[in-house]
Amino acid sequence: MSTGSNSLIWFRKGLRVHDNPALEHACSKASSGSMYPVFVIDPRYMDPDPSAFSPGSSRAGVNRIRFLLESLKDLDSGLKKLGSRLLVLRGEPGDVLVRCLQEWKVKRLCFEYDTDPYYQALDFKVKEYASSVGVEVFSPVSHTLFNPTDIIEKNGGKAPLSYQSFMKIAGEPSCAESELVMSYSSLPPIGDVGSLGVSEVPTLEELGYREDEQAEWTPFRGGESEALKRLNKSISDKAWVANFEKPKGDPSAFLKPATTVLSPYLKKFGCLSSRYFYQCLQRVYKAVKKHTSPPVSLLGQLLWREFFYTTAFGTRNFDKMKGNPVCKQIPWKEDHDMLAAWRDGKTGYPWIDAIMVQLLKWGWMHHLARHSVACFLTRGDLFIHWEQGRDVFERLLIDSDWAINNGNWMWLSCSSFFYQALPPPFYNRIYSPVFFGKKYDPDGKYIRHFLPVLKDMPKQYIYEPWTAPLSVQTKAKCIVGKDYPKPMVMHDAASKECKRKMGEAYALNKKMNGNIGDDDFKDLR
Ligand code: FAD
Repeated sequence: MSTGSNSLIWFRKGLRVHDNPALEHACSKASSGSMYPVFVIDPRYMDPDPSAFSPGSSRAGVNRIRFLLESLKDLDSGLKKLGSRLLVLRGEPGDVLVRCLQEWKVKRLCFEYDTDPYYQALDFKVKEYASSVGVEVFSPVSHTLFNPTDIIEKNGGKAPLSYQSFMKIAGEPSCAESELVMSYSSLPPIGDVGSLGVSEVPTLEELGYREDEQAEWTPFRGGESEALKRLNKSISDKAWVANFEKPKGDPSAFLKPATTVLSPYLKKFGCLSSRYFYQCLQRVYKAVKKHTSPPVSLLGQLLWREFFYTTAFGTRNFDKMKGNPVCKQIPWKEDHDMLAAWRDGKTGYPWIDAIMVQLLKWGWMHHLARHSVACFLTRGDLFIHWEQGRDVFERLLIDSDWAINNGNWMWLSCSSFFYQALPPPFYNRIYSPVFFGKKYDPDGKYIRHFLPVLKDMPKQYIYEPWTAPLSVQTKAKCIVGKDYPKPMVMHDAASKECKRKMGEAYALNKKMNGNIGDDDFKDLR
């Protein structure tokens, strides 16, 4: 075994070969030694019990773990084609890494910089150890287009609290003109792995999860190859990219979703480089006469991701209401039965239930579908804490992402970002659990697909089956209250009460000088 010039590339997110500066550095410096490509299966994320929804938990459901394993397999096969392979280890990543550095006589540790608080703490520990034993650490920012630290510094040490102020500060990302390394002719060899318990990528069953009927429904497969295929398919339709405009687009389109479905590849696992995505978009924009612009364009969507990463990084307690300086204090209610009915798709509102079933089965749903169910749970109907909805998304989404999930839940619950002091307040704009979906899908195809119990319900009752005469329910083989739940609340009364409570909470936050000053959000008006 050669010593002295061995490198270790530690994959966490960034599960890709293309545009991976940490991998590039590890390879270039290991020219006369070995390179150990490592992924550590972290027990923190593993909990196969499908009923595990513990508060604040980051444990992942079966769909996300499956997506992760597919991504690891794809990475392993990409590395094997280049003469290397992925070394999978299990355990607390900090401890595992220290053992690897010791045993493999590593001189250089390379990993992508991560802004999530969990990784900040973990990386601090690993870096401290590395510097105490003279191991060089290279940790580049490559999960995002911008370095959140630079943006915060340019903004006088504070995270920008609106998209507009973020955009003013951010300007062009440095990757705009740089040439990205997309492939290699070969990679340095792996050295002796000794007795560290290195394995191949495990199966779902080996991690205690069950490959059940539900998981088979998920149409999205993990991995860099799939990510690049998806990206190429999206950008090859130049007119679609040029005209992309969110929030226009049909949230009920499930066979051919109205958006790219690149989020699981970009966010959680980094199978796709956001910098490469950015360059591809710029190429399309240059090739067409006219195109949409941020915040509604496809580039604008990518920049929302940057905005949330930066704001989350610069805000203490971003994942909590209490102690979070950008979050309104609202007296949300605790109701475990209501929360469970929402989570399990049993609210009695077919539009809401179908979305929750899509989440459970597919781990992904359209942005406006997420709006609908988040609004229903919080300020729209049930008045339940956004942190509880966040936990359910955290477990079930395949694209679940700490910064973006928390940011969007605060947004949808009108706890932050959407703040507007001038009338009419945003919290009065509530998504109807009946009419919003009907606008896009009057026949209820989406509902019939995800809630087969309602498949024979006539279209005039599909969004409100409790209004169907008993004879119609009998003919449709769906008796409301027996085969499908009655609505858990009556929307008109529930939403009126929610608006009243939001009004009170906003007034109180203002009186107590709140924790968000009007000035922080003035460029939203
Ligand atoms: P496209 O419209 O094709 O956009 C392209 C890319 O832009 C996306 O892949 C994503 O990286 C980024 N993007 C788009 N919309 C947003 C947004 N609002 N905020 C930040 N980035 C965005 N997205 C996550 O990735 N992880 C989450 O955990 C998550 N939780 C959410 C929770 C709630 C309550 C809501 C309302 C939204 C949440 N989103 C989350 C944001 C958004 O819904 C998804 O990013 C989007 O639907 C992904 O689909 P797409 O890739 O087809 O998006």
